[in-house]
Order: sequence, then structure tokens, then C-alpha cells
Amino acid sequence: MRELDVDVLVLGGGAAGSLAAVAAVRAGKRVVLVRRGDGATMLSSGAVDVAEHHVDGALGLTRHARQPGLPVREAAQQVAERSRWHPYARVRGTVPAIPEALTMLAEVARGAELWTRPDGENMVLASTVGTVKRTAMAQSTMVHGDLADAHADEAVLVVHVPHVTLGDGKHVAGGLRWYTAQGGEGRGALRVEDVVVPGITTPDDGLRSPRELARRLQNDEVREALARSLVEAVARAGRVRVVLLPPFFGLGGHAEWVRGLEARVGVPVAELLSAPPSVPGERLQRALDEGVAREGATVLEGVAAPAVLTEGVVSHVDVVPHAGEVPYRVRAPQVVLCTGKYLGGGIRREGHFAEPMLGLPVFIDGTHVTGGWVGGYVGELPEDDQPFMRAGVLTDGTLQPLKEDGRTVAIPGVRAAGNVLAGYDAARMGTGLGVAAVTGMLAGRWAAEG
Ligand SMILES: Cc1cc2nc3c(=O)[nH]c(=O)nc-3n(C[C@H](O)[C@H](O)[C@H](O)COP(=O)(O)OP(=O)(O)OC[C@H]3O[C@@H](n4cnc5c(N)ncnc54)[C@H](O)[C@@H]3O)c2cc1C
Repeated sequence: MRELDVDVLVLGGGAAGSLAAVAAVRAGKRVVLVRRGDGATMLSSGAVDVAEHHVDGALGLTRHARQPGLPVREAAQQVAERSRWHPYARVRGTVPAIPEALTMLAEVARGAELWTRPDGENMVLASTVGTVKRTAMAQSTMVHGDLADAHADEAVLVVHVPHVTLGDGKHVAGGLRWYTAQGGEGRGALRVEDVVVPGITTPDDGLRSPRELARRLQNDEVREALARSLVEAVARAGRVRVVLLPPFFGLGGHAEWVRGLEARVGVPVAELLSAPPSVPGERLQRALDEGVAREGATVLEGVAAPAVLTEGVVSHVDVVPHAGEVPYRVRAPQVVLCTGKYLGGGIRREGHFAEPMLGLPVFIDGTHVTGGWVGGYVGELPEDDQPFMRAGVLTDGTLQPLKEDGRTVAIPGVRAAGNVLAGYDAARMGTGLGVAAVTGMLAGRWAAEG
């Protein structure tokens, strides 16, 4: 067993863990981050949702598809006022810290080139399922797809790659025509057309994962065929707002290629937001991995065993490295739990709810549910309320997990951040990576203060 003594141990390497580790390193602390693999961050669309404005708290399309709604920070404030268990409401200083957290996220994940709108509004970006989403930050390859300011007389061209179902251009174009016609307010539907790019795929490509496809299509021949089809389509289409690409035309060096393509076809080009499995999500996760190492945290790729507690505090955590090397025993006076929810492994729902690393109580909103039957918290229909998606660790205002009573700090020296937190549904509330970034940054900073 190798021994490591550091100031801060971060469990989990998604967006929350990455920012917690970097915040603690920047505060001058020695930091170890342990990650056993990829979680929800890897599956995300490639965009960072902080908050969108929900009219009367309703979900879904409650106004014109192209209206960005409230500026991001005001929308987050609205979430805090309307959802008392949401981390924006419960955790001290989260909403004012959002701009700083987004800046830190962009710095750490600089390889993913994350951009926001300069006016603080959400972007309105199209997805591979033909819907639109309001989001605060997106990869540079996506931001030119912002439809918030699009005019009805401009064409949106959607690339259709035969045989491939993810981001099927004909389906996406149909969806966008429908969505942009909803809500009225004097704005017409957008002119959306598909552009078929023949000859670059075969029926076998329909069976490939987006990642394999991205690797296969990242070559000069394919890119030349795509560019030629687009030059012709743009010449035919009249005034073009943007060309939308399915997000599988390459894994690396992608931003430079998209900029080159824009120069060649003479109009903006943007990737669609991806459904999982997501090539842009993978780009974000890999950019975070690089950033954490670059900033100076020690990264252990391996599985952290449940923490060992002595006299009510964490004594150590053993880590079994993937590479089959000798395990590590990590000791740190401060631990930040960023293990995610069901996908990351931070919360278990095998019949009953449990938090496996520290044995912390699990809450749904403010109700203690550890050991409770999961089925009792699952809505029958997808559109029903799904309380199990809000299960997690309940904390005080400085992200210290609480005991079953919901008031007393459970384990001194422990903070929690990101998807492992109770009180919000990352997907439905449109605050997924925003919460991970801001709570991760604050948890790392507070852990560094001790
Ligand atoms: C399909 C999907 C699409 C989404 N799309 C978006 C989107 O477009 N925009 C958005 O803002 N949000 C989106 N979200 C939500 C968002 O991805 C999450 O809220 C966010 O990524 C959570 O980050 P996290 O760091 O808390 O957790 P995760 O990214 O899940 O990271 C958890 C980490 O903990 C590690 N871990 C857990 N247990 C152990 C252990 N025992 N030992 C070592 N390591 C461990 C995992 O390996 C992983 O590194 C999406 C979520 C999903 C599932």
C-alpha cells in the first residue's frame, strides 16, 4: 500500500470534481483527485445549462422557441426563489458566483473552447432530436447555431448524412420547423432545409457508435465531400443563417476544422447539441481531465473504496488503481464528494437509496429516504414528477452533508458538490453543469479554507 498525505481529497472527476480540485489547487493546497471512469459529464450534450426561465415554473416550451427568456443569472435567481431545495437556494452565494464558476470552467476545460453570449442571455441551440434548448455556454463549434436572433427570411441548413440516425438531418429540420413555429408573438417559423451529403457513409455506419463514426469521418476525403455539398447548397439557398452539422465529424482538432469549413462555405457552421452517447460530451470531459492535470492536482485513475472513519471523521480512503498497480491509501483532512448521481455512482438505487462512499443519508428535497423503496419515488409516466431524480446528499449552506435530522453536520471535514446533491433534477431543471461548476468551485474553495 502506497501512502499519500495531502490537504484535500476530491472523489470524482466530472465537472464538479474537476472544479473542486482546481479551486483547492489555486488556493495553494495539495490535492488528490480520484476518478474511476466517466459519469454524466461525459454524456452531456456539449453545452452548459445554468438556468432557463420557466414561466410559472412549467417545464417545456412555454414561449417562442427562439426567445432566450431571462438572462442566465436572473433565471438562476428565479430557480433559487421557486425551488427551495435546489442548490442555488440552499448553498450560500451560488447565484452571484455563477459568472466566476463559468469562467473557471472555461479555463480548466480550455480544450473544449467554451463560450457564453456577451449579453448574459441564454443561447437557443438546436439538438440532434430536432428540439431547441436554452443554454448558457457551449463549445465554440456550437455557438454559431444560436437561433435566438434568427430571422424568418434566413435559411437554416441541416446536414443529413444517410444511414446515420443520430442527428438525422431530415428529422431535425422537420422538428425545427415545427418548434420555431410555436409560441407566435409575431415571429414566423424559420426556413429550415436539409442538405443531403451523399457518398460519405455506408449502411454499416448506422451501426457505429458516434465516437467510432467521428474517428472514421475525420479524414480529408469526407471533409472535402461535405464542403462541396455545402458550397452548392448555400449557393442555392439564398440568405443562410447557419449550417447545422450532426456532432460526429471528428474528435480532435475539431474547432479549427469547423472554422476552416466556415471560411470555405462563407456562412456560419455549427454542430448540433448531442444526445448521448455524445462526442462533444467526451470532448468536454477530456478537456477537463487535461485541465486538472495541467493545474497541478494529482490524479489517481482507480476505484475509491468506501471511506474509513475514525471517531466520526474520515481517516483515509483506499484507492485501487485501474492499472493493477499497488493500491494507494490517501489521507486528507478535507474530502470533497463529487461522485455524481446514478450514472457516476455517487447515489445507488438498487431497490433502495444509498450513498456508498461515506454512508451519508440520502434525501429527496428535504425528506430523508435512505433505505426507502425507489419505486415509491418514480412517476408512472415520463412526463410525471420524478422525485427519484432529485435524490442525493442534503447539505448546509457551505456544502457540508447533513445527518438524517437535516440539520446537523454528518462528518466534519466533508463537502459535497455536483450531481450527488439532493434537491434538483439536473436534466429537467436545466441546471446540470451549472450546478456542478458553481458548487464544485465553492466546495473546493471552502475545503481549502479548512
Ligand atoms: C444524458 C445526459 C445528458 C446531459 N446533458 C446535459 C447538458 O446538455 N447540459 C448540462 O448542463 N447538463 C447536462 N446533463 C447533466 C450533467 O451532465 C450533470 O449534471 C453533470 O455532468 C454532473 O457532474 P458531476 O461532476 O457532479 O458528476 P459526474 O460527471 O457523473 O462525475 C462523477 C464522477 O465520480 C466518479 N466516481 C463515482 N464513484 C467513484 C468511486 N467510488 N471511485 C472513484 N471515482 C468515482 C466517476 O467516475 C465520475 O468521474 C446531462 C446528463 C445526462 C445523464
